[in-house]
Amino acid sequence: MVVSDVEGSAPVIGERLSLDLMNTSYSTRGKPAEGLGSPEQATSWVQRIAGRLADAGATSASEARFGEAGLDDLLALRTAMRSLADAVVSGGTPGAHDVERINRAAALTPRWSSMAWNGDARPAMTKQSAGAPADQVLSTLAGDAVDLFTGADAARLRMCERPGCDLFFLKDHPRREWCTPACGARVRAARSYQKRVQRARSASAIGASQPSPTTPERRRR
Ligand SMILES: [Zn+2]
Repeated sequence: MVVSDVEGSAPVIGERLSLDLMNTSYSTRGKPAEGLGSPEQATSWVQRIAGRLADAGATSASEARFGEAGLDDLLALRTAMRSLADAVVSGGTPGAHDVERINRAAALTPRWSSMAWNGDARPAMTKQSAGAPADQVLSTLAGDAVDLFTGADAARLRMCERPGCDLFFLKDHPRREWCTPACGARVRAARSYQKRVQRARSASAIGASQPSPTTPERRRR
């Protein structure tokens, strides 16, 4: 898992593509942060994951450039994905317009799979799409969300349990409760600090209830 948190851009924690889009809306030091705050940021975020987008079928992802309209489309797609993800993790009702928004984005470009079989035991499959690079990106991200919500991964979808962190991840280990090891470490550190404070408090409460030779001295002061 690669964690990168470049200033002004969203953390890419190496989850599947649709989750990485959802996680461009994140929090830093308890405050909401925006990883897609401008067309330039949107373009640079897409460039950061262009290789994975290409593997998923957006073969021209590295050429994708986002203007204001493209950014609006990307943000609308993200809003729809996050609201469906919220419904999944909280047991809520998925919004029909969110489903429709994702379906429409998925249908923006034709996408297909093809194979190369060069005498190897098994043929290799590649995913491809046509159309404008930015549309390929939107369509591929939306297609990944369709796979996520309709496939086995939906049951593993979680939101990070660290207070103040709202990143989504797929629970790939029974004890995983956090988006990244860094969030887990912060929660464990906070818990052990709380325990130390509680222990110190109960120790001083016991001390106060027992007569101690220094108590009269303190009282006199
Ligand atoms: Zn987290």
